[in-house]
Amino acid sequence: MIGIPSIAVAIRRYETNGTHQGFSVKRTPRGLGLFTRKRISRGKLVVEYTGNLLPSEEAYRKGGRYLFEVNSRWIIDGAGRENISRYINHSCRPNCEPRTRGMRVLIYARRNIDAGEELSYDYGKEYFDDLIKPKGCRCDHCLGQGGRRRRKR
Ligand SMILES: [Zn+2]
Repeated sequence: MIGIPSIAVAIRRYETNGTHQGFSVKRTPRGLGLFTRKRISRGKLVVEYTGNLLPSEEAYRKGGRYLFEVNSRWIIDGAGRENISRYINHSCRPNCEPRTRGMRVLIYARRNIDAGEELSYDYGKEYFDDLIKPKGCRCDHCLGQGGRRRRKR
């Protein structure tokens, strides 16, 4: 009886502190993007890529924009609203990197990230060649190289 309310509080605290709080979703030249509201140190866990774990064939049959390949047989369909990491865009010079741990996909900081920065990771060669390259990459690095938009440092 005594333990139950504190567990409920702990879970709620995890949900608010551990996931959506600390991030904001904003418009970018690449569509919506995920921004951190607080500074994140290099090597720290930023967010988990959550969703339904599906066998690869089933996931590719269904299709969708938010499929994350865990390994050759399993895919996370991250289209659910609770998966805020679906807003993280591709960058050719990313500040985050995803790492798989068993069947989980965890996104870590590759370097120190300032409050207010957009989060990004490299979507990988296959995704880049198939879906980004034909339209031209609009990450800050590529836009900056084109001279249209320089990043303030
Ligand atoms: Zn790029």
